[in-house]
Amino acid sequence: MQYRSPWMTEELEAFRHQFRKFLEKDLAPHAEKWRRQKMVDRSAWLKLGEMGALVPSVPEQYGGLGASFAYDAAIYEDMESIVPEALSGVTVSSGIVAHYILNYGSEEQKLRWLPAMARGELIGGIAMTEPGTGSDLQAVRTTAKLDGDNYVINGQKTFITNGQNADLIIVVARTGGPGAKGLSLIAMETKDNPGFRRGRNLDKIGLHASDTSELFFENAVAPKENLLGGEEGKGFVQLMQQLPQERLIIAVGAVAAMERAVKLTTEYTRERKAFGQPILDFQNTAFTLAERKTETFIARVFVDFCIERLIAGDLDAVTASMAKWWTTQKQVETVDECLQLHGGYGYMQEYPIGRMFVDSRIQKIYGGTNEVMKLLIARSL
Ligand SMILES: Cc1cc2nc3c(=O)[nH]c(=O)nc-3n(C[C@H](O)[C@H](O)[C@H](O)COP(=O)(O)OP(=O)(O)OC[C@H]3O[C@@H](n4cnc5c(N)ncnc54)[C@H](O)[C@@H]3O)c2cc1C
Repeated sequence: MQYRSPWMTEELEAFRHQFRKFLEKDLAPHAEKWRRQKMVDRSAWLKLGEMGALVPSVPEQYGGLGASFAYDAAIYEDMESIVPEALSGVTVSSGIVAHYILNYGSEEQKLRWLPAMARGELIGGIAMTEPGTGSDLQAVRTTAKLDGDNYVINGQKTFITNGQNADLIIVVARTGGPGAKGLSLIAMETKDNPGFRRGRNLDKIGLHASDTSELFFENAVAPKENLLGGEEGKGFVQLMQQLPQERLIIAVGAVAAMERAVKLTTEYTRERKAFGQPILDFQNTAFTLAERKTETFIARVFVDFCIERLIAGDLDAVTASMAKWWTTQKQVETVDECLQLHGGYGYMQEYPIGRMFVDSRIQKIYGGTNEVMKLLIARSL
């Protein structure tokens, strides 16, 4: 059956037709180099900016296309299936950080940062996680103290996507007392900020082209206007408001990865022969792929529903959590079974399914672990 996402339009089809060609021709040939150097070249960001692919759902007056989240979803799907190496950095900067600026930044901040993000000149990061605090965000220890016209930031963050490249980092910091009410979000520029230091580009088991880093703040400064929302103590609420979009973005990538895994494996098993017949003709292979194709379709329809809800402005945290945990769980299972059907070749770096195997694993952890997703859903029972 030919299925078309309900949010798809002819205009978006035309855009993504060009976009896919661009990804294949201009970005994919560099992916191997990015994996080796453990980061994506900045020139790739500039090219994505020229394509209008960085902040499509930001209004035109701030450099975006003024489009809906459907554009973001299509862009992330195409990147996942053609050049996944560039995806996680772009989703963090464009899909998350830009939207904090758009929703909580002042007019002056939006005009200063968003057009530069749209052009790929400014890369964003968001620093929530600390060495001692991941799931329990309310326990963040990094502090930001007002001193004259500046916030002075002290503390340490870890596992921060775009950590080596980020020009602007949204720092989750404690401006008040303990617990959620003491947290604020401060947009901190990294340039000419001697109290800010980037640590190691961490050695991960997957996502090799994505820079993930430790960050150190030793009297780093940000002007007091960089407090997002203009009022202290709003950080936790702002995070909760934005997390459904972040979680949906992860689910969009999960479905695209499942679709790619099933397609690649169907093609591979059709060609590969054992005992005188294509592997696909063994009932175990065909049934495994039949099951995975079914689950992939179910995941696609549910994620499309969530995309429509987000576009309508009413995707709630519980439904987004369902999408995040279930699709990423299915992604990991699907990619594992697809690797199995590749035999030993599946374990080789040169076959995409092997890379998809190690890259998929983090999907169950970041953006809030799948256990935390279930806690959120359980509260709604
Ligand atoms: C590649 C990568 C990129 C990342 N990018 C970013 C980024 O850009 N910005 C950022 O801020 N962070 C980022 N992270 C961090 C990520 O969000 C955290 O690793 C994640 O939230 C989990 O936190 P933790 O690692 O401290 O695990 P912990 O919180 O220590 O959890 C360990 C285990 O305990 C479980 N657990 C914890 N609490 C409960 C509970 N109440 N009930 C049941 N089980 C529980 C967890 O589910 C998990 O299985 C990234 C991580 C990686 C690996």
